[in-house]
Amino acid sequence: MADSTESESRKLLGRLREAMAGDDAGQTRLDKITHLIADSMRTEVCSVYLFRDDETLELCATEGLNLESVHKTRMRLGEGLVGRVAKYGKVVNTPDAPNAKGFRYMAETGEERFSSFLGIPVQRLGEKLGVLVVQSRDAREFSADEVYALEVVAMVIAEMTELGAFVGEGAALSPLHQQPVLLRGTSAQEGTAEGHVWMHEPRVVITNPIADDPHRERERLHEAVDELRVGVDKMLEMSLDGDKEQVQVLEAYRMFANSKGWMRRMEEDIALGLSAEAAVEKEQSQARARMSQVQDAYLRERLSDLDDLSNRLLRILTGQGATSSADLPADPILIARNIGPGDLLEYGRSLRGLVLEEGSVGSHAAIVARALAIPLVVNAKRITTEALNGDHIMVDGDQGLVHLRPEDTVSSAFRDKIAMQANAQERYGSVRDLPAVTKDGKRVDLLMNAGLMADLPSLESSGAEGVGLFRTELQFLVRNKMPKRSELVVLYKRVLDAGNGKRVVFRTLDIGSDKVLPYMKPTDEPNPALGWRAIRVGLDKPGIMRMQLQALIRAADGRPLTVMFPFVAQFEEYRAARAEVEKTLELERKLGHALPEVLDVGAMLETPSLAFAPQKFFEEVGFLSIGGNDLKQFFFAADRENERVRKRYDTLNVSFLSLIERIVERCNSTNTPLSFCGEDAGRPIEAVCLAAIGIRTLSMRPASIGPVKSLLLRVDLGALRKIIADARHRGDQSVRPAVMDYLRDL
Ligand code: PEP
Ligand code: MG
Repeated sequence: MADSTESESRKLLGRLREAMAGDDAGQTRLDKITHLIADSMRTEVCSVYLFRDDETLELCATEGLNLESVHKTRMRLGEGLVGRVAKYGKVVNTPDAPNAKGFRYMAETGEERFSSFLGIPVQRLGEKLGVLVVQSRDAREFSADEVYALEVVAMVIAEMTELGAFVGEGAALSPLHQQPVLLRGTSAQEGTAEGHVWMHEPRVVITNPIADDPHRERERLHEAVDELRVGVDKMLEMSLDGDKEQVQVLEAYRMFANSKGWMRRMEEDIALGLSAEAAVEKEQSQARARMSQVQDAYLRERLSDLDDLSNRLLRILTGQGATSSADLPADPILIARNIGPGDLLEYGRSLRGLVLEEGSVGSHAAIVARALAIPLVVNAKRITTEALNGDHIMVDGDQGLVHLRPEDTVSSAFRDKIAMQANAQERYGSVRDLPAVTKDGKRVDLLMNAGLMADLPSLESSGAEGVGLFRTELQFLVRNKMPKRSELVVLYKRVLDAGNGKRVVFRTLDIGSDKVLPYMKPTDEPNPALGWRAIRVGLDKPGIMRMQLQALIRAADGRPLTVMFPFVAQFEEYRAARAEVEKTLELERKLGHALPEVLDVGAMLETPSLAFAPQKFFEEVGFLSIGGNDLKQFFFAADRENERVRKRYDTLNVSFLSLIERIVERCNSTNTPLSFCGEDAGRPIEAVCLAAIGIRTLSMRPASIGPVKSLLLRVDLGALRKIIADARHRGDQSVRPAVMDYLRDL
């Protein structure tokens, strides 16, 4: 870069800093900086456009355009050249603006006189703040150095905006991160919570974007990068014999930390007048902007590694972000872009709720949030850029809504909802120790689903009669390496001890599909949900299954034991799995371990094929449990993870209920115990319908037991059965409307 550009740029930044230093109002500051920039760039026009809402930009200050148009000229995102710069986060540089693609003529600004146009996005870490524009009458194209220098200025404006330097009247100059915001995400765990924001990775605030002494800043950058490199090397050393993927990530970190290109760009930013931390953040912002455009998953991962590394570097440079759990508010609601199950478990039960910018309903974080029984909203776009530590926040896990810094009216309506739910919980508490017996005297056993140690206390508090589904894979998922057999023995023993004689159904490893173990080589399958998963992996790799069976037998230490195989699609798979059990029992006997007093071995019915298995299967299998989540997705061919199609098919659809009834009949004819353990078992209306068609054991999240029991106590299963039969007879698609009518009349 030419030395003259560097000194010009430093001079301009120095003048900008002076302009900021006074006690001027935000508007005055903006006016001054547009004047300074136009002067320094030798252009007739310099304008700043800021967002007044998500979709609209407003001209907030200008040198050279008609002053009357300030705060009047507005454009929508994507509209005109300014709107395009904002929308795509990309520079537009053209010598002939009126003929450029997307140009929109705005008479009130007097803009037709200007030919060349350079628009730079003002953005901070992926948050769009506005657009900085220079224009001139002569048809010149701005040089790469000029563009670069103006990008540096835009970066400073972004930092100043973040620090509240331009606060003034009107929506476009309103302070950032102080307005109420309503974010719509996807519900991943029901429930409501009120509390204060705790950022998993707090934002670093840069108070000194401009620096006078580039030598000193370069030194600071080098010192910080050295510290970063040493840290990464240390982490790498520590994990060399650990899991492969972690090593790969750290190696990518090291590559970036040693990258000459990254360093060079930051040094150039410093030479133009930025402080070391502002230079790091400028490169980080640009990497984030690229990240949102890159489709390739591998490249996105690498850009996200760079993002993470930049955060570490910023924390070293500013000393910020070293918060500890001691600073956690009393009612924390955790906000993160994404979070691993291990990190989430570390926060544990202190959390009131969780909001993720990314994530999905079936993610491991979602599974842990369910175990912790905290409301979870995923896909809440912009939450990590909008929220600040300590902000008041309300999470509506039922609707997938997040109210950040809510207004009083919203708060009070929301509190009413929380109070109503608390009342209901109290009511459920009063039926906790009653058996679930319906009005017509039918008893339904209510069990709970579990998978983590954190679930165990719920066995007592929920009034569950046992654990109908213990998802053993969760223990494998929350670790970064394969647990040892001896560790599993300890874990399973704790589960059985907590059960205190109540039945616990251990489901063997259900991995594959969305549940990928971080330390297992990923298999590249075109359709993982229909791929190599669960019992298919267990049978093809019997070593892991045997290790798990041994751990279960040893943990039981002579006590009764119940084992269930997931995703059995045909009789032969059950037979083969059962044979593995026999082999393991024999091995354990030889090794001198006590064998279980009673061993019950069953299967999950999760594919329609198993409902049509030979009679002999139903006679041989110890028990069956319907995995409604998978069964439903395969029955309707509708991905359970795909929000678009997931809700399209009702569980109370007549065809689906007919399939379940058929399974009930077959089990009755062979006296095979049958239960239902998918999510629908925990939905009161679905649960009473399942009971009405003959399912007398339901296994669900602990928090659902109260609501399901309360409704069961009030219904007559005979009457419901008739309503379902009538609806089917009439040709209804779903029995829900008819059932709802009945329930309303109760
Ligand atoms: C199911 O498929 O219904 C089930 C209980 O198993 P998972 O949700 O763990 O796949
Ligand atoms: Mg399943």
